[in-house]
Amino acid sequence: MNVLVINCGSSSLKFQLINSDTEAVLAKGLCERIGIEGSRIVYQPAGGEKETTESPMPSHTQAIQLVLDALVNEKSGVIGSLGEIGAVGHRLVHGGEKFASSTIITDEVIAAVESCNDLAPLHNPANLIGVRACQELMPGVPMVGVFDTAFHQTMPEKAYLYGLPYEYYEKYAVRRYGFHGTSHSYVSKRAAELVGKPYDSLKIIVCHLGNGASVCAVKDGKSVDTSMGLTPLEGLIMGTRSGDVDPGALELIAKKEGMSFEDIMTMVNKKSGVQGMSGISSDFRDLEDAADKGDQAGIRTLEAFNYRVAKYIGAYTAAMNGVDVICFTAGIGENGVSTRADICAYLGYLGVEIDGEANRVRGEEREISAPGSKVKVYCLPTNEELAIARETVALVK
Ligand code: ADP
Repeated sequence: MNVLVINCGSSSLKFQLINSDTEAVLAKGLCERIGIEGSRIVYQPAGGEKETTESPMPSHTQAIQLVLDALVNEKSGVIGSLGEIGAVGHRLVHGGEKFASSTIITDEVIAAVESCNDLAPLHNPANLIGVRACQELMPGVPMVGVFDTAFHQTMPEKAYLYGLPYEYYEKYAVRRYGFHGTSHSYVSKRAAELVGKPYDSLKIIVCHLGNGASVCAVKDGKSVDTSMGLTPLEGLIMGTRSGDVDPGALELIAKKEGMSFEDIMTMVNKKSGVQGMSGISSDFRDLEDAADKGDQAGIRTLEAFNYRVAKYIGAYTAAMNGVDVICFTAGIGENGVSTRADICAYLGYLGVEIDGEANRVRGEEREISAPGSKVKVYCLPTNEELAIARETVALVK
């Protein structure tokens, strides 16, 4: 079956068409600047050239129409007709406490996702616009929602409650939810396969280090803790997000700078993280270049990033009373050779030993721990689209 995987944001939309039998990507691409002037679609068929076409997309429906047109296009299309799309898998960001797994999208499901909009006011409405546009253009094709939060619904109360008055949990569902669940689930399952032991017998820590970054503790096949919270702002230092910060620091800054709550939220989401700390860039390649040239801002920023990841690994080892496998994934986890080495240098007390030669890997699945290492460590590329396609097929078959 061919599954169209859609990741719809407020002004952009990423897509992949995946053959679920072979798990091959038939075509992929993205629509950018939807609803804004200068919108364009980037389309790439497997083994073919990337094509960029400027085309007006006043709404997401037009964007999806352009995606469908590209897929069946006589010249560079990869399917003969839309009838060859068996199902659509949608990435949905926040399922609150309502969704502990992926689900077939029905009117009730849409209403339940809408009721979680307060928890993700930017993401959920945009995701649902994508769902509705697909329903309009592909009536009768089954659609599945795969939630970023679902994998973490196994977290125990002691891990998800904040040290805040309990009434806010009861009244507004204010608690920790976690994100990147599709990636943490995919990577931890794959790690169990590589180790050759049952998934439900292992203690695995996944470090998803991309522009957004989170660590997850997976015990016996279940997420028991993760570093992001109610929103993706908590936890690690990220590209432009601050991660953990004392709210008192924000009060001080707001008073001194005359900033509103909104200004502060923009600052901690978009102007902080390694970008704000270094003043150089949110991209690790730029930071590494700067650090290599001896730039102090670059060096201290990378050190702070690595230290925070190492602290979370230590905390999650305590939470699980041990760790068997540590995985590095996403842009920085898969490519950051020195980032992985520097983080693992903190973990000698756990018996983590890295093989320097093996660690010189980028974007490829490989064990990077030394033969005698007590904990196995992997560079393990994530594949959220494939995970969404698998979930989709499992539900529609
Ligand atoms: P997201 O999906 O959250 O936008 P990605 O997982 O694509 O993020 O990761 C993007 C980040 O990966 C970039 O900002 C960059 O810092 C990092 N990255 C990509 N390639 C490399 C590389 N070769 N070396 C170090 N970091 C890299």
